[in-house]
Amino acid sequence: MNIREKAAEKDLLLAVDMYGCPNRCRHCWLGHMPNRKMEDGADEWIVDCFRPYFKRISFYSWLREPDFCDDYRERWQRDIALSVQTVPERYELASFWRIVRDPEYVPFLKEVGVKAVQLTFFGLEETTDRFVGRTGAFRELLQATKLLAANGIAPRWQAFLYEENKEEIVELLKLSEELHLKERCRGFGAEFRFFVHTGSCDGENRKQYDIWIRKKNIPEALIPFYSGYESLLTERECCERLRRDVTHWVHHNEKEIVLLISNTCDVFFNFTHMSREWKIRN
Ligand code: SF4
Repeated sequence: MNIREKAAEKDLLLAVDMYGCPNRCRHCWLGHMPNRKMEDGADEWIVDCFRPYFKRISFYSWLREPDFCDDYRERWQRDIALSVQTVPERYELASFWRIVRDPEYVPFLKEVGVKAVQLTFFGLEETTDRFVGRTGAFRELLQATKLLAANGIAPRWQAFLYEENKEEIVELLKLSEELHLKERCRGFGAEFRFFVHTGSCDGENRKQYDIWIRKKNIPEALIPFYSGYESLLTERECCERLRRDVTHWVHHNEKEIVLLISNTCDVFFNFTHMSREWKIRN
């Protein structure tokens, strides 16, 4: 089977960094990149490059902050129009930067069927602002929570856990309880979720190695909210496993190929950060 025939069997998802992101989060697995608006028409010629090879293509004009352009409404329609034989998904992602600045935005999210929006915290005010890289981020996240719930969209709080913020994340959990988010979401038939992660070892988070949390230091109160805690390995256990067994997991796109395209048209798979070493081509 030649490459054209093989590609024709798969779907393609193109995510293009056409506008950038207002944040510079310390855990960002994609890696920090300058914001740059891509030239008009770039979306179309990028899709045209792939059109002859794939039956179905979903096109996204963002890969960092969704809807980080003022004409996000038209932009969404254009993403749909550029997609081939499919409609792009909304997922649980939205711009909290825009939620608190643009009164038309939450109604738009409702209109396009968004049921829940994930909001990312790193602790309380000072720590969250520092980790997001923007003064005011924590207050914006709280305001976004309120606006979403008031409009019947469930906020989902995810918190990234490090040695230095572990006690604050426990406080954050208490704050979510004090705000009665569970009850408020239940009121419109949705579920409030609070969950903790450590983030990936790629991109910016790799630079936080010195403050990565040790398994034994994860506060007990957070264990029920830690996704996959039962299978969590310590660093020592990972190293021992690697010593015993050299087989390793090779990333592979099965039914769908996902390509991330930078604002300078560098192309990457979605396996890890968008650094020079992982660039497929331009
Ligand atoms: S994690 Fe998301 S919001 Fe934060 S800098 Fe990266 S792309 Fe932007």
